[in-house]
Amino acid sequence: MRMELRVCKHCYNGEHGNPQKTAITKDMVECARRIREYKDLIGIDSLYVSMVEEGDNGGAEALSVYVASIEHNQIQMNDTQLVMEDGDGNVLVYPDPDDILEVLTRNIDQIQDQTRQDVTVELSSESAELLS
Ligand SMILES: [Zn+2]
Repeated sequence: MRMELRVCKHCYNGEHGNPQKTAITKDMVECARRIREYKDLIGIDSLYVSMVEEGDNGGAEALSVYVASIEHNQIQMNDTQLVMEDGDGNVLVYPDPDDILEVLTRNIDQIQDQTRQDVTVELSSESAELLS
């Protein structure tokens, strides 16, 4: 299994004026980095975290899957997505923040089952609300 989390760099840095998205983006990145630390425990081969900048169509991604949506008659690239590819080349793409957080926290729960170390990530109230 290979995974890639892509987030908007500006949201991560709090430069897009959306504190809620910033809190959630930071949580996603923290969860992904925690999973990466312990990925061997749950059979994940690699986990990339990439941050895209405005006007950046990607290209640096490890897994070249793009999810586009149409808004105001314009094709928008999602700046936030989680891509998972299993050993058979089946690809799953999660573009919604609540799904992404759910998948990431589920992975952390699986890791927690495998180790005595505390691997939990303290989520912001924004993320907790999204998951509830
Ligand atoms: Zn942004």
